[in-house]
Amino acid sequence: MPITYSTENPTRQKQWIQALTTWYEENKRDLVWRHSKDPYSIWVSEIMAQQTRISALLPYYERFMNQFPTVFALAEAPIDDVLKAWEGLGYYARAHNLHKTARIVAHELNGQFPRDEKHLKSLPGIGDYTAGAILSIAFDLPVPAVDGNVLRVFARLENNEMDIARPVTKTLLTAYVRAIMPQTHTGAFTQALMELGALVCVPKTPLCHQCPVSAWCHAYFLQRQHVLPVKSAKKPLKTVDKTILLITNANGDVLVRKRTEKLLHGLWEFYNIEGALEAEQIAEHLCELGYSCVTITPIGHSAHTFTHMIWQMHGFACDVTADRSAPAVAPIEAYAFLPVVELKEKAMPTAISYYTKWLWALPDIQNDPTK
Ligand code: SF4
Repeated sequence: MPITYSTENPTRQKQWIQALTTWYEENKRDLVWRHSKDPYSIWVSEIMAQQTRISALLPYYERFMNQFPTVFALAEAPIDDVLKAWEGLGYYARAHNLHKTARIVAHELNGQFPRDEKHLKSLPGIGDYTAGAILSIAFDLPVPAVDGNVLRVFARLENNEMDIARPVTKTLLTAYVRAIMPQTHTGAFTQALMELGALVCVPKTPLCHQCPVSAWCHAYFLQRQHVLPVKSAKKPLKTVDKTILLITNANGDVLVRKRTEKLLHGLWEFYNIEGALEAEQIAEHLCELGYSCVTITPIGHSAHTFTHMIWQMHGFACDVTADRSAPAVAPIEAYAFLPVVELKEKAMPTAISYYTKWLWALPDIQNDPTK
């Protein structure tokens, strides 16, 4: 059984690549960014497609491109507007990097994306995969774009048992794809592989009887398609408990702050405390901060998984009145009470969407035509 990829049978490779690209031209989905070779639209679509299903990202993509139709428009936009347009997609570092790269392309490169792989990969948020996608799809250059879909397809096609979670597997496969990919029309080749992985050679139940390359597929021949690819399990993620407090004052304004940490940088959040606090502990905490507690109501639990940890959240709605004789202590200083109508204009993380939805659904907010 092969443990590395071999380029020894060029006829076989030529045949399956031909069958794959023909199938792609006849069966590809009609996606809006496939209508042009514009590197800007291809770049935005590829960044959005990382970690997000195509059907889920379509409305975000259309809205984003309407708001920022060119790399210049994105470069000139305030980061808060970009984060607001990204709201709901998660992985906000991608939005920050899009903005940074747009500024470099617009201000230093006259709006032109580099055609040189090394130069393109030096831009924020553009790694091997994104560079390969832009160069092959927009410029038809023979640069591979290897993601999880492509790793899975090749593991099966070549009956390869290397662990696709290991970086060395990706390095070897990238070199292999670079060696076998056509030198022209590379956009069709790259997208055909992506489409095959998304629609036919899917993770759990590959549709081999509909597959355009089944005649050349070693795993299918050996009926091993269900045991490949080999992928080692990830380490379990660390869980962090957080108590989320929707603290409203007598005016109905909510206590929030703009995050300054690397995680979810620049997004707005409700007051929160590390740990899972009981109502009594929350009352004590608020008193220490200078607020006389009026009511504390549990509003439910929620969880959000990041790439490196899980937030286990415990939410409470707290109506407080400011105790002016006891000023708030330091931790609350970064926070401010904001009217809900203003808060709705701010970008808030998907991680706490359970609580933002809860707040937006309050009857006095729903009934106020200005909110
Ligand atoms: Fe994947 Fe099956 Fe096609 Fe092989 S024949 S590439 S396992 S869908």
